[in-house]
Amino acid sequence: MMRYNYLIVGSGLYGATFAYRAKQAGKKVLVIDKRPQFGGNVYCENIEGINVHKYGAHIFHTNNRDVWNFVNSIVEFNRYINCPVANYKGELYNLPFNMNTFYQMWGVTTPKEAQSKIDEQKAEAVAALDGREPQNLEEQALTLVGKDIFEKLIKEYTEKQWGRNCKELPSFIIKRLPVRMMFDNNYFNDKYQGIPVGGYNKLIEGLLEGIDCKTGVDFFHSEYQNWRKYADRLVYTGALDEYFDYKLGKLDWRTVSFKTRVEDIPNYQGNAVVNYPSHNKPYTRIIEHKHFEMFGKEVYDCPKTVVSEEYSTEYEEGMEPYYPVNDDRNNALAEEYRKLAEKEEDVIFGGRLGLYKYFDMAPVIEQVLKLSII
Ligand code: FAD
Repeated sequence: MMRYNYLIVGSGLYGATFAYRAKQAGKKVLVIDKRPQFGGNVYCENIEGINVHKYGAHIFHTNNRDVWNFVNSIVEFNRYINCPVANYKGELYNLPFNMNTFYQMWGVTTPKEAQSKIDEQKAEAVAALDGREPQNLEEQALTLVGKDIFEKLIKEYTEKQWGRNCKELPSFIIKRLPVRMMFDNNYFNDKYQGIPVGGYNKLIEGLLEGIDCKTGVDFFHSEYQNWRKYADRLVYTGALDEYFDYKLGKLDWRTVSFKTRVEDIPNYQGNAVVNYPSHNKPYTRIIEHKHFEMFGKEVYDCPKTVVSEEYSTEYEEGMEPYYPVNDDRNNALAEEYRKLAEKEEDVIFGGRLGLYKYFDMAPVIEQVLKLSII
């Protein structure tokens, strides 16, 4: 029986990056994943020659040069820049809120005109409060960006996301609403951005190359539960509460569901991400996957396209756990579990499930790069 230095539970970006680094450090590693494929949430399914982001659209972005150099040493990244568009009842607006949005909203052409329009609408909202602090999300958002942007681009989108009226949502959900007085549709402020050439699976394959891996193996229902028999250390990127058999209670999650279909045309919406911020459509966004990796003529060289509608969905047992719930109960419970995790000898807890924290991809990689692997 082969004995490993590390058994890694989960082949998402945390597990795969750890495996790569451990191999570089001369360690013997086994990676197991309960899913039928590797890659965790960045896994893409190829449909009609298009990489479909099965677990939600993923755009890599970072300010960290080391992380950017690291991922580019595994696979080249393309020039994709995320520039979402909002379709409000057939009216199109660029996001994030910038000079293009303000031109589309009001016909203003200079930052000065845009700022005075926003200031005028904010002042109306503040006057309506009559000295009170904003009591709910609606009042808060109105004081930050004014009525037009709120009503067309925030109100119903937020209501679809949370399943509640903006007047019933707490004001703290929206602390800031940045407005950009530039013609700049780039959603992220980070210096580096892109999608791996050939898709995220190439990144995962590069990280796991030459490493022993097994799919379809659930840690808790396999011989590896008794992991000390097989390895000196365990890297665990599964759910934190499951590791402790839910002994303090279950942590809650939020989820999203997707309806994916093939369209028999080369170009459905002309952009990877189109938001639908009104109640007249039940979904919040439509993702057209080919635009993450195909540009210009390439879009038309591929005769079909794949689109996914995204729906905000209440989490139920058995669904994909996507986002940790940031409320007092869950924060406190997760903290208790994290304290237990610290006491586990020879076990490293990592990643979004293992720490019960939302991380973008780059911070997950950064965490692993900072570890000294012994
Ligand atoms: P995961 O990718 O979830 O991997 C964990 C793996 O562990 C899974 O493969 C799972 O099957 C396996 N596993 C769990 N339990 C067991 C078990 N008992 N036995 C065996 N295997 C097990 N980040 C960005 O930077 N940009 C984006 O645009 C972006 N979009 C996102 C969209 C959505 C909908 C979501 C949910 C996240 C998004 N993220 C994005 C964040 C990104 O997905 C995470 O940073 C990344 O997936 C974290 O990797 P991970 O290894 O921690 O977890």
